[in-house]
Amino acid sequence: MFFLDSKVCKFKMKKVVITGGCGFIGSYLVKNCLSRNYKVLNIDILSYAGSNKIFTDKNYQFKKVDIRNKRKINDILKKFKPDFIINCAAETHVDRSIDMPLKFFDTNLFGTLNLLQSLLKNNLKTKFIQISTDEVFGSIKKGKFNENTNYMPKSPYSASKASADHLVRSFGNTYKINYVITNCSNNYGPGQYPEKLIPLTILNCIRKKNINVYGNGKNIRDWIYVNDHAKAVIDCMSKAKRNKTYLIGASQEKTNIDIVKQICDYFQKNENNKFNYKSLIKFVKDRKGHDFRYAINAKKIKSEIKWSPTTRFNIGLKKTINYYIKNQKKYLKKLETDNWLKKR
Ligand code: NAD
Repeated sequence: MFFLDSKVCKFKMKKVVITGGCGFIGSYLVKNCLSRNYKVLNIDILSYAGSNKIFTDKNYQFKKVDIRNKRKINDILKKFKPDFIINCAAETHVDRSIDMPLKFFDTNLFGTLNLLQSLLKNNLKTKFIQISTDEVFGSIKKGKFNENTNYMPKSPYSASKASADHLVRSFGNTYKINYVITNCSNNYGPGQYPEKLIPLTILNCIRKKNINVYGNGKNIRDWIYVNDHAKAVIDCMSKAKRNKTYLIGASQEKTNIDIVKQICDYFQKNENNKFNYKSLIKFVKDRKGHDFRYAINAKKIKSEIKWSPTTRFNIGLKKTINYYIKNQKKYLKKLETDNWLKKR
């Protein structure tokens, strides 16, 4: 007969703070962490992009707090003592960053600084996972970005994210904090705020409104299904080497116009009417400083972390379109009440 020693068997759940857990990617991170038995504390200010999804898990807590708030962040980290912080909170829309760059640096850079300083103040050994973007590398005509590509951000958004990445690395070097940086390509999937290309195109097909396409529509992005990104980050939490960077991508390069046409084709095939969805497409003046192409080489994360994406673009896109059709009332209301979007 075996007797279990309660001291040996007591299983200590790992604790993770996720910032921006009410946003698009953050909400998938929360869900995946809970399913992998982490205790999760979500810190989110609930900006226009945050949606208050209620996770009813007993291992989940939510605090409506700004990551720039020194006192509150300090109190939370001191009390919760996380094993990990996944810093996902950010201002994320490139077009808005062109109109209000200060807001982007304030949240994306100074919010990150506040989290890092709070870790130091409380002498915590937390592993800090900085969620970053491939946009920090600028634009690439041929070949793909890898972990050795130089930073060349070209929009206020990407410059604010690049600055935060540099800040995190400087804290690793100077104060020996334990960090990992992940730079991911463009995410798509259910639940994204409808300012971004894919949900906005779907909703414009639903409401039969012009689909504005920048320039000639030939700009290329490398798309990844959001849940594949979330799984990659969570694999990095436990497996990534200290102070390393990993690029995350699914090798699914598409031009903007091809995506828009694919969505129109879906509506053409599935909606029972004679309306010509492609007639909604309008080419408009290009975005200022518009990067031409992003492309990720994800060899390192595949070989070191043993992660691979599982969702093919056509399948993920269908899921996404069906989600917005089903939830159209909620998202059309967001479009109609967003003053910044309405002015464009
Ligand atoms: P999102 O805009 O959908 O969500 C951002 C979340 O951060 C929102 O819930 C918002 O309320 C919260 N937030 C904003 N300011 C805050 C503050 N001061 N304090 C606390 N919470 C705040 O963004 P997303 O698309 O989910 O992106 C999440 C992260 O992933 C960002 O850091 C972004 O740079 C990065 N990223 C995004 C993509 C993409 O394609 N969406 C690709 C690569 C990296």
